[in-house]
Order: sequence, then C-alpha cells, then structure tokens
Amino acid sequence: MGKYVIGVDVGGTNIKLGLADARLNVIDRTKFATECFASDPTFLINEIAKQISSLIERNAISDRNISGIGIGLPGIVDHSKGIVRFLPNISGWKDIPLKKILEKKLGIRACLENDVNLIALGEWKFGAGRKVENMVCMTLGTGVGSGLILNGSLYRGYSFSAGELGHIPINEEGPVCGCGSYGCLESYVGNKRLVLRASEMINDPDISLEKMHALAKKGNRTALKFWDEAATHIGHALVGVVNMLNPQRIVIGGGVSNNHEFLFKTIHAVIQKKAMKVPASVVKIVRAQLGNDAGILGAHVLVHEHK
Ligand SMILES: [Zn+2]
Repeated sequence: MGKYVIGVDVGGTNIKLGLADARLNVIDRTKFATECFASDPTFLINEIAKQISSLIERNAISDRNISGIGIGLPGIVDHSKGIVRFLPNISGWKDIPLKKILEKKLGIRACLENDVNLIALGEWKFGAGRKVENMVCMTLGTGVGSGLILNGSLYRGYSFSAGELGHIPINEEGPVCGCGSYGCLESYVGNKRLVLRASEMINDPDISLEKMHALAKKGNRTALKFWDEAATHIGHALVGVVNMLNPQRIVIGGGVSNNHEFLFKTIHAVIQKKAMKVPASVVKIVRAQLGNDAGILGAHVLVHEHK
C-alpha cells in the first residue's frame, strides 16, 4: 500500500488542502475561506484538523498509510520545534505550537514550514528546479517572497526568516512598504501596487492586471510600458540576488508571473546588463511548473526527505 501525504497551504484568503499518493498524484483536494475562522487561532486549527479528518475519511485511507501532514504557513515558522512564530496577515498567531496540537488531535506526524519554502521544495524536487543544487524560487503575488535552495538544501536562515526577497530595498527613498520600511521591491511589484500603478498609467479606476495583460497582447504601448517597468524593478532586485548567491536557476511563480511573456525578457536583460559577468552568464530565469500543486508536492518533500 502506498504512503500518502496531506499538504495544507495556509493563506490569508484560503486554506487549501490536498491529498497526494506515493506517485505524487494529487488525488483529492479541498479548501475553505480563512476569514470565517480567522478571529482566533484555536478556531482555525480546529477547522484544519476537521478538514484533514474528512479528507482521510472520504478517501477511505487508514491513518497508518499516511506518512505525514506538511503545512505551509505565510510567516515565520520554527520548523525544528514545530512552532509558528508569527503570521503577519492572520491575527493572533504568535508562538503557537501547531505541530504538537495537530499531532495530539489527529495522531499523525505533522511538519511545518514557511509557505514559500514549501513551494521552493516542490519546484526543486518535482518542478522547474529539478537536478539543480542552487536555486532561488521567487513568488510574485499579493506579497513577493522567495525560497532558497543552496548547495542542495533549503536555506532557512538563523531565525527562519531567510528569503524575504520582497523586502529588498530597490530605492532608499521609495514608497512606504507593508513591512514598515521604504522602497522595498514589494512596494513596487506587489499585486496591489501594480494595480494602483496600472490605474495611474491607464486612467481607468476599474483596471485589473488581467486587463493590462490583454491590452499588452494587443500591442497597447502604455500596457507594454507598464509591464516593462515592473520587470525592470524585479530585474534590479534580482541583480542583487545573482551577485550575492550565484544561483544556477531562478524559478518565478505566483499569479503575477502569468504575465511572463511581458516580464521575463526584460528581467533577463537587466540581469545581463547589470549583474557581474560570472554569475550573470550562468543563471537561467524560468517559470514555475507546478502551479497550485507546488505547496502540496513540497509537503511531500518535507514529510519524506527534509525533516
Ligand atoms: Zn518591505
């Protein structure tokens, strides 16, 4: 009998759960709105446990055939102690021993990880970073983050907060950022900022990134300029990353990366022009391959290999 893994992706909007079999097929999935349970961590934990139990029940799997539960959380996670240190976008989450609580409730081993680290593990083992020892997996969405695979293992940093690529300053006098600092990459290319910038440029209060994509596809000059500007900002932050880490591959995912056809060429050009020649000549910029399943497959890596 194959061993199953349950992946849980805790997001500020939705909590997504998936059941993967030993062949990495995601055979069942479910999700629920975070908002309904966000007032207290206890409510949210109880709901996660309830949803895990019903996922197991409706697939008629015995608990002993489940290798573990891998949980990705949007914040700082001490994976070794199984404690969620802090979630900036879900209230009340400070120093919560989630691993212990879930293991007691469910009797199944639970592993915790930062959500972008989980995506990086998935892309590294099964997606766009296969067979690569040094890679940066960048996510472009409401937030901008990254997971770092260095010398063939996940780099978490001394207090587990490494990879905050969205908070690399690209302009010391730039706009105020959600983190409290100024001019961070995220304050230029986080989803909400991009929509604001688009409405400024195109003079349409109902503009969306989907509309900007469609306009650029038709050759609209303002829309093309908008994407070029975003790509230039991303490229500049990545010049620092390339010079600092000398990665072999930079994998870019997240909702905003669906506009890759208007982003990647400029990102690549900025890196080639501004980064040092030795690291710039080897780095490849590629799209993430696993989409929404990256976190669930990352849970598979976490539970089986990366304890
Ligand atoms: Zn910031």
